[in-house]
Amino acid sequence: MSTRVLGSRKHIALVAHDHRKDELIRWSIRNREALTRHALYATGTTGSMVEGAIEVTVTKFLSGPLGGDQQIGASIAEGKIDVLIFFWDPMEAQPHDPDVKALLRVAATWNIPTACNEATADFLLTSPLMTEDYEPLLPDFSAYLNRKITS
Ligand code: PGA
Repeated sequence: MSTRVLGSRKHIALVAHDHRKDELIRWSIRNREALTRHALYATGTTGSMVEGAIEVTVTKFLSGPLGGDQQIGASIAEGKIDVLIFFWDPMEAQPHDPDVKALLRVAATWNIPTACNEATADFLLTSPLMTEDYEPLLPDFSAYLNRKITS
């Protein structure tokens, strides 16, 4: 197992599907003070709405259906995102369902703290680990990387 350090100022990615944007905005307003201690990232529309609601700079990727979920997934794989708050819609299929699944998969692969609902987001944001250095154990992918490919 290898490790990397999540610093005391976390890089938090925020994503909400359309029917859950109100919930994420409400949560952001309620947690504005805690969120200002961290660096915020988001898919395009979510990011604009959060910026407007809590007046904190958010680094915005493309809109989710246009590739934003994939950009956040790539950033997780590159070690640039520490925490994922992803309010996905359990009641409606999305045009970018494969990207949604891929984002959740990469977050699990890299052992990224992930919240998919308001209660978990509350538990996460109030964890003392949010404002301390934290070293998540990372899976050892060496066997996978060194595998022999036979055709
Ligand atoms: P949006 O993307 O913030 O641009 O709406 C969210 C998503 O659907 O993944």
